[in-house]
Amino acid sequence: KSVAWLEPFMEAEKAAKALGQQARFSPSGLFFGNRDEAVTMAAAAQAAPGAQATDSARGTFLIATVKGDVHDIGKNIVAVVLRCNNFRVIDLGVMVPCERILEEAVRHGADIIGLSGLITPSLEEMITVARTMEEQGFRIPLLIGGATTSARHTAVKIAPVYSQPVVHVGDASLSVAVVESLLDQDRRGEFVRKNLLDQQRSRASFEQRQQQTLVPLATARERRFQADWQTSPPPRPERSGLRVISSLPLAELVPWIDWSPFFMSWQLIGKYPRILQDPVVGEEARRLFEDAQKELQQLVADNRLTAKAVYGLWPANSEGDDVVLWKDEQRNDELLRFPMLRQQWERVGQRDFRCLADYVAPAGIPDYVGAFALTAGHGCDELAKQIEAEGDDYRAIMIKALADRLAEAFAEYLHARVRREWAYGNQEHLTNEQLIDEQYQGIRPAFGYPSCPDHLPKGPLWRLLDVEQQIGMTLTSSYAMWPASSVSGLYFSHPQARYFSVDRVTKEQVEDYAARMGMSLTDMERWLAPNLGYTPGQS
Ligand code: SAH
Repeated sequence: KSVAWLEPFMEAEKAAKALGQQARFSPSGLFFGNRDEAVTMAAAAQAAPGAQATDSARGTFLIATVKGDVHDIGKNIVAVVLRCNNFRVIDLGVMVPCERILEEAVRHGADIIGLSGLITPSLEEMITVARTMEEQGFRIPLLIGGATTSARHTAVKIAPVYSQPVVHVGDASLSVAVVESLLDQDRRGEFVRKNLLDQQRSRASFEQRQQQTLVPLATARERRFQADWQTSPPPRPERSGLRVISSLPLAELVPWIDWSPFFMSWQLIGKYPRILQDPVVGEEARRLFEDAQKELQQLVADNRLTAKAVYGLWPANSEGDDVVLWKDEQRNDELLRFPMLRQQWERVGQRDFRCLADYVAPAGIPDYVGAFALTAGHGCDELAKQIEAEGDDYRAIMIKALADRLAEAFAEYLHARVRREWAYGNQEHLTNEQLIDEQYQGIRPAFGYPSCPDHLPKGPLWRLLDVEQQIGMTLTSSYAMWPASSVSGLYFSHPQARYFSVDRVTKEQVEDYAARMGMSLTDMERWLAPNLGYTPGQS
């Protein structure tokens, strides 16, 4: 907020030089005037020839969330941190196509480009941007950041396609040091050398990991997780079909919030409530938490965000590695089918190779599967934009972080409600801590997450739940959900159902899965790129 306030004064100082109005300034360059005058003078300076040349910023940083991705909390934090350190930041927002990023970089004379993304398809998009930069002869460094990005992915997939420095920035607070090193002629050489060396090491360890053997698909299927349907027959829901919650009062969601990830989104690491007493970050965490409570109270009171959900339970059975949903209890007419992926990587102590279909009973035993899509984000973007326009980046980021918390709280709330409607959760009495610790029966895996890493099944899920019509949530080209503060997935009731990670799979399984999904191998390989245990195109 201070930077937003001071910016016109800083601009006005530049204006003094551009317009030759030294009289309005002290010998040390301080502006004698109020803020309105500074704003006027800054605007005049913008128009003046040569204003660019006297720019006192330390460099121009262009940042964007890549095409198909809607998440921007981390990106916005980076932008604020760099601005506070006197870098000129051009923030292009979210869902920015490659061509636009590169055009704007040229137009603004960017010294560095920063790409941000949260979901796995964004990793592929980042490779595309890097490759295009190489083709177009860019000579500036590329920074990579965001939740699913990693130093390893940057080293293995992105750095090799662009001949200039490509640096993974694991944490917004590191961005200043990285940008300073890259723009400082004295430090740059050493920094780039070390980065290259780290990336070489990272590639070598990746090669080693790739060579770890995955078991053949048939073996993995033989050693599947075997549920005992006789001793624990699947619970039967009170009713099946679609249900809509068109507006849940936010106050209902507050008690369900898991606060630990809230601190993580501000890059304060530690578990709530202990983090409030932490010797290092405790004070800042307490201040942040207090601000959050105030903002949350206001969000709840004003109902500026709308929480909506659509969900349902359907008769279902597993068929191999597919989960089949039936139109009715007769179980003859197929409504929809979700092909699932199976683990193949034999870790130490691994007893079975899991696939979500293992948690659903095969034909002959009546079982059920649920599906849901929910959001707490309607209204969030408009509100954040309004507050950004007032120059209060902190509050704008706070509101987005809170909307994310409310969405996850909604997922917890709705799951508990569904367990009751599924009858088996009637007797449940769990505290918030026990809920966060997942001590209830069943799971709610989300497409794009480790048990079902493919994002594509969100397409059929959207049709099943009529999501767009019912609650106005949409999918981007990369299958990110809009509004950003949203959760969707399936419900499984099996008492032994656990989250697991599919991780890497063989070409044999990708071929098998592609056939079940009705897609070509090449297309499938692009969507499953982070999970391939082989290099596509090689045998
Ligand atoms: N209490 C946390 C939950 C974070 S996990 C919070 O408030 O942020 C978010 C969601 O991801 C879970 O609710 C679940 O739907 C999904 N999920 C977690 N691990 C998963 C896995 N291994 N596979 C599939 N989905 C998973």
